[in-house]
Amino acid sequence: MAYKTVNPYNNELVKSYPDATADDIEKALSSGYALYKKWRDEPVSSRAEALHKIADLLRKNEDELAKTATVDMGKLYAESQGEVELCAIIADYFADHGAEMLKPTPISSRNTGDAEIYHQATGVLMMVEPWNFPYYQIMRVFAPNFMVGNPMILKHASNTPGSAAAFEKIVKESGAPEGTFTNLFASYDQVSDIIADPRVQGVALTGSKRGGQSVAEDAGKNLTKNSMELGGSDAFVVLSDADVDKAVDLAWRVRIYNAGQVCTSDKRFIVADNLYDEFLKKLKEAFEKLVPGDPMDPKTTIAPMNSERAKKKLQGQIDKAVEGGATVYYGNEPIDLPGQFLQPTILTDISKDNPEFYDEMFGPVAQVFKVGSDQEAIDLANDSELGLGGIVMSGDPSRGKSVAEKIETGMVFVNSFLVSLPELPFGGVKGSGYGREMSELGLNAFTNEKLVVTAQEPDWNNPYAGLAVYPEK
Ligand code: NAP
Repeated sequence: MAYKTVNPYNNELVKSYPDATADDIEKALSSGYALYKKWRDEPVSSRAEALHKIADLLRKNEDELAKTATVDMGKLYAESQGEVELCAIIADYFADHGAEMLKPTPISSRNTGDAEIYHQATGVLMMVEPWNFPYYQIMRVFAPNFMVGNPMILKHASNTPGSAAAFEKIVKESGAPEGTFTNLFASYDQVSDIIADPRVQGVALTGSKRGGQSVAEDAGKNLTKNSMELGGSDAFVVLSDADVDKAVDLAWRVRIYNAGQVCTSDKRFIVADNLYDEFLKKLKEAFEKLVPGDPMDPKTTIAPMNSERAKKKLQGQIDKAVEGGATVYYGNEPIDLPGQFLQPTILTDISKDNPEFYDEMFGPVAQVFKVGSDQEAIDLANDSELGLGGIVMSGDPSRGKSVAEKIETGMVFVNSFLVSLPELPFGGVKGSGYGREMSELGLNAFTNEKLVVTAQEPDWNNPYAGLAVYPEK
């Protein structure tokens, strides 16, 4: 059985789940496709009530859902609660605005008649999601596509099956019709087969480069539209005029949140040379105060990582970075607890030829770099194979903004947390993938942008219709 919950706090096997069968898959596809055809004839607004109901149910069941996520992948209970509320916010937003945003868009054209772009459903959508935000990653795709009218099939990460089943249960309880959303404990091969099915017209993946390449290849072979939300090694740029206390206060929070396992968590701290020593000292002081322990205990401030595999991988990366010349400024000591804890660690002196220079460190490790100018900070931020997000700290927001404009990523925030909200587009460039989730862009990620032109009658003098090659009527 590939899908199981192993509590990363104490390594206990909580539950194993049966693999999806060929029948389960066919049922998901046929009920999803039948629903797509039914939804095509119904107004978008008819789905808003069910989506609000889903938001209500999420809020009503917040405690149970939050515990499930924490046991599945170890995040702090308060963080799980915040994630459930964010999912409810996303559902409410698309329920409130989806119908308006999906109205046909008129376009001005020199052609005779009225030209409009319709935003219509296309079919069943396959989503492949990671464990790090086991509900929010689903909701980013679910809420907009539910309004569009694309039924969905989920393949969740194999270590968060409890959260996958809980999300499916909420959708069922809302009274949404059969086929709306089916969770399948599917293998990689089964995912390939589902993508190859002509009833499937979209594929959304959030995850690693390895997973993204494989699923995008399947989608490409079948010419199926797809979006890829992949990793990030975001830069946190501290310009020479920044308030160092504020910068550090933001820095440790963004690096430690979710035990550092966030695609948009800043992993590279690029600090102006006049602030570098003070920044490092204060970042270390902040890391020293963190308390590892039971993620259900409100006194715990650093959670275990999600799995033994993830911790081993990150430890291996730290070791490789150190062998390659990096200095451990703080951390990298064992934590005397049975769970998958990794001590928050600060690495410096990571040169360009270090084998870890271009790698994403997906856990509580901060790499800190010193730079002599804004331009050097921009060049270093852009010297990455990834391009997801980033933060710029400056005493002068316009200076911060001019640096932000030159950073090659999908999202940059100046003097602010990088927040994810339904009205803000989310996604990256370069190795961080393509496409956007959330906002109007995400709502239209899997729509048919269909042109409809309506005239009273044919315009026989239309100069664009074959451009005068026809004999006169
Ligand atoms: P991963 O291994 O790619 O897993 C993500 C999902 O893809 C899981 O459901 C996984 O299933 C599945 N998967 C992997 N290979 C597959 C294949 N060949 N065919 C079908 N499904 C496949 O990613 P991860 O390492 O667990 O997640 C962390 C990564 O996700 C980091 O790089 C992080 O930055 C990125 N991420 C990106 C975003 C974003 O929005 N850009 C958000 C969060 C995380 P199994 O669990 O069964 O292997």
